[in-house]
Amino acid sequence: MKKLIASLSAGTLVLTAFTATTSAQAQAPTRQPVSIGYGGAVSSVDPDATNIGLDVLRRGGNAVDAAVATAAALGVTEPYSAGIGGGGYFVYYNAKSHKVTTIDGRETAPATMPSDAFMNKSTNQPYPFAQLVTSGVSIGVPGTLATWNSALKQWGSLSLGKALKPAAELAERGFVVDPTFRLQTLENKDRFSQVVPTAKLFLPNGDAPQVGSLFKNPELAATYTLIGRQGPSVFYRGPLAGEMAAVAKNPPKTPGATLPFFPGYLRASDLAAYGAIDRAPTKVRYDGLEVYGMPPSSSGGSTVGEALNILQSQHLAQMSTTQALHTYLEASALAFADRGAYVGDPAYVDVPLKELLSKGFGAERSCLIDPQKAATKPVPAGSPDGKYSRCGKGSAVDQRPDTEGRSTTHLVTADKWGNVVSYTLTIEQTGGSGITVPGRGFLLNNELTDFSAVPDPKDPNIVEAGKRPRSSMSPTIVLRGDKPYIAIGSPGGSTIITTVLQTLTNRLDRGMTLPQAIAAPRASQRNTASVTAEQSFIDKYGAALAPYGHTFTPAGAPGSSAAEIGAVAALEFLPGGAILAAAEPTRRGGGAAGVVRER
Ligand code: GLU
Repeated sequence: MKKLIASLSAGTLVLTAFTATTSAQAQAPTRQPVSIGYGGAVSSVDPDATNIGLDVLRRGGNAVDAAVATAAALGVTEPYSAGIGGGGYFVYYNAKSHKVTTIDGRETAPATMPSDAFMNKSTNQPYPFAQLVTSGVSIGVPGTLATWNSALKQWGSLSLGKALKPAAELAERGFVVDPTFRLQTLENKDRFSQVVPTAKLFLPNGDAPQVGSLFKNPELAATYTLIGRQGPSVFYRGPLAGEMAAVAKNPPKTPGATLPFFPGYLRASDLAAYGAIDRAPTKVRYDGLEVYGMPPSSSGGSTVGEALNILQSQHLAQMSTTQALHTYLEASALAFADRGAYVGDPAYVDVPLKELLSKGFGAERSCLIDPQKAATKPVPAGSPDGKYSRCGKGSAVDQRPDTEGRSTTHLVTADKWGNVVSYTLTIEQTGGSGITVPGRGFLLNNELTDFSAVPDPKDPNIVEAGKRPRSSMSPTIVLRGDKPYIAIGSPGGSTIITTVLQTLTNRLDRGMTLPQAIAAPRASQRNTASVTAEQSFIDKYGAALAPYGHTFTPAGAPGSSAAEIGAVAALEFLPGGAILAAAEPTRRGGGAAGVVRER
């Protein structure tokens, strides 16, 4: 039975559909993809999480408090995408100093992990990717809790305990299972069913929780409460560290488990050694705006930034839609070639970040774009060496396989003082490693599969002990003058970069409003022969782009969660002081954007 709940808010009729299944039927909170108003704002993929963030703001908390509370709630309602078993990147605009700063909370490779950890010694080939994902060997030292702690200590007004409390209560009372949660569980059923604590938590009675039922996670509630009371040391230096190391080494398998579960290198000492790192953001000027992003270990800021530099001289605003899309796809391929050749953890790799983001390099790369013809992919990387001719030639070709997941989650918050947070967090694949810490209610990441598996010394992203795998997460804050204009980000593995880029150019150059820019069909050219695209993009633009030589591959099977690219959460700061909070209208079932006081 389908039931429609209508509610009237801000003059908009909001319709929420849910399917009745059991007598334990609970009512899901309303999802609103657009909200305009004052006093602060939150946007995320999930209504419970957004409401928790808004509540923190209403009670006088600031954007950082709200971001941590929202993220902790996403650990409850989006446990396959994010949580304390993973890592992420936090970008913060401080309204007092007008400065943007970032925290790199990326997972690290354990201290004893060898460079050939993913290689099958007998064949000299990497182990099959699916086997590496669901195993201890892919588990990196989690950085999310250290990120929350660092953000609150530096800029928050709440204690960690207070910031985690609403999420602990949500985990205790449960949230209403939506179709996305059930679908994601079903897509993981085979591997989840092979790990005892994961099957117990996420496959009660051997099945994915029904849509409309309440999903409770009292073990996670207790974990949050424990951390709130004892601080992050209970996780990094206390009993949880040992438990995470033990389960990474030898997860309790169900009888009949078929996966090999390669043992992890994670030790309690790796957790004790972990630290989130404050980093200066990347910055490029585009259309008179300043675009701030995440520097390495993420490739988000450098790749979005380089692509914007390439596009700056192309003047997308003056082009036809087809021409603009062709140019966007080509710029993205060029920036991805350089990402593959030059970007890795800066503690291990000399990343030419300044040159990658220089106007000279952008112009040299830009002039390689043929306005009539798509270049043969993969295009070679350029030479960010400080010496730029009108048209660079390019060097080696990057053809390493792209295995990044499509999981992850993004949130944005703003407060009444004008502080802004753009925060992307993940456990890598949807469902991470599939390994739940027994009795603690959270999944561990498989982030280390973001490294290249083959230890090619020319590759900036090979496995090395203590290193952070290169990420694509692109939490972004755009300033106009020294004031916030747009805050944006998305999940989606390496498609995060193209989603942020495409949405920004939709908004800044193509005359779309922010909600239109988010809703528009997506395509992702990551320097591959064929462009990955949503079916809606192929239907709408495929024929017009074919004469340029672009070919398209649907992002995923229809109806699967992979068929969609990204799930944007964003804010726009409107003239006169109002904030427009925006989320996906339909992808992942629609996101939740809210403001403290509706206009
Ligand atoms: N592991 C990916 C990254 O760091 C994110 C995974 C995803 O978005 O699914 O870029």
